[in-house]
Amino acid sequence: MTNFLELIARPDPSTVNVGLSSPKLATLRRILGEPRASYTGECQPVTGSFKKRIVTKSVGPFRCTGVDVAVEALKDIFASVKREVPDLHAIVGTAGMTCARKVKIRQPNGTIKLGRNPSNHSWGLAVDIKLNGALDLQGDKKCFRGLLILSRYFNAAGWFWGVSFPTEDAMHFEVAESTLRRWKKDGKL
Ligand SMILES: [Zn+2]
Repeated sequence: MTNFLELIARPDPSTVNVGLSSPKLATLRRILGEPRASYTGECQPVTGSFKKRIVTKSVGPFRCTGVDVAVEALKDIFASVKREVPDLHAIVGTAGMTCARKVKIRQPNGTIKLGRNPSNHSWGLAVDIKLNGALDLQGDKKCFRGLLILSRYFNAAGWFWGVSFPTEDAMHFEVAESTLRRWKKDGKL
């Protein structure tokens, strides 16, 4: 059986997120507005006008809280994973989706530094994935093999994988810039 928690070197950036980019703050703000008036390092409720679009639902392996279209997209992603890699689907969990806070970046010495900008989790369009209850350590330039497999499904659905961030964040998946624009164009947002 595949060891989905095996730590492997992070994949070459040219082999993942092909044609996809992380959504720009300006695009998130233009399409959904500002999640809150101010942010800290802790999760706080979304108070912006798009909060009416935030739902809590099962996406298959777990329940999560996010923007309705993104939650529906996760359902489709995990339905495919369940069909094709059921052993992996069985160990997928989450560390959360919507969380209005500043970006947190793990430093080489293990401390967490707060970024200046709000995290994309503030818009309810990003999800952190656990495998068998374990979180992939941010910034070690390695990732669980199972996350690499999952990334194929996320990328195919137009989600960006955080493994390619300057500080590797392999647990993190978010709706890509082009997907966000397409959803807007199609009237889904
Ligand atoms: Zn994240």
